[in-house]
Amino acid sequence: MTSILGNCIIALPSILVKTLQRKLVIFITIAKPTTIQLYKYTKKYLSGLLIAEPLPSLDTALKKIYNFNDILVFTEVPMNPLSISVRTVATPCGEITYTFERKKVKNINLRVKHNGNVYVSAPKRVPVETADEFVISRSSMIQQAITSFAARELIKERQKSLSDDKTVILGNEYSIVTVADRREYAEKTDDSIVIHMKNTADSQRKINIYTSWLKKYTEEVFLAVMHDVHTKFVPLGIDFPQLKIRSMTARWGSCHTRRKMIVLNRRMIEAPLNCISHVVTHEFCHFIHPDHSRQFYALLDKMCPTWREDKKLLEKLVIL
Ligand SMILES: [Zn+2]
Repeated sequence: MTSILGNCIIALPSILVKTLQRKLVIFITIAKPTTIQLYKYTKKYLSGLLIAEPLPSLDTALKKIYNFNDILVFTEVPMNPLSISVRTVATPCGEITYTFERKKVKNINLRVKHNGNVYVSAPKRVPVETADEFVISRSSMIQQAITSFAARELIKERQKSLSDDKTVILGNEYSIVTVADRREYAEKTDDSIVIHMKNTADSQRKINIYTSWLKKYTEEVFLAVMHDVHTKFVPLGIDFPQLKIRSMTARWGSCHTRRKMIVLNRRMIEAPLNCISHVVTHEFCHFIHPDHSRQFYALLDKMCPTWREDKKLLEKLVIL
């Protein structure tokens, strides 16, 4: 009995077909990804799964299992033993390792998975060299995808750690610790935020003390940055504007020229000072050029030459 599932042939030794009704079904494979695909497909028949990879000798493995009377064995015979291979190519962006699979597809397909693994599938007639060339031609895109997935994972990790009594302020990580005290307040040390509180078991109270401390601290930091940036704009006749701090989901800051006010995103406190500074400088430039014209960027380049890198870093570190 033979059935075709996906790109491989499942050959069932005829002797075993009789035992199809038996309780335990075991599937022997030489290729893991296909097994999983098959496992899903045959789940209702499958109550056991044996992955023999690499399988040194199919005969020995089968014989071994034959001894069990109530076991049904499926064996997999790939149409092309080399249909899946792992390849490494040198590219202008460094070495890239990818899984190459020949399939019933029309074109060469490339996919970067969230774990950073690169998969290429191609029609059977495509030589491996063509697949390598394809990967090389898209190496910068692949590396970019791998980096951005890795960054996302890092941020996820970081957000997870925030809930575990850790926080990030001005680009540095601090642990939040509690201390029993009659007076309730928070203070920042070199590596932690110490919450002084009456009842250290009161987690809501802890959050409240921390939040109000962070609010005040954020205002102090943002104001200091504004004063620092303002000195560069005094010769241009710009008055010190009013500062509003808000929680925003779509922007880092905004400038209200007529009301002489700059609004900054609260979340920026997580980023290093240079990241905050470039946003403040951007908003100050709007007092001269309210638009994003060429003249605006010329002024921004002059006032904050590093703004492009600062912006990139801010967007990498703080996800809105
Ligand atoms: Zn702007």
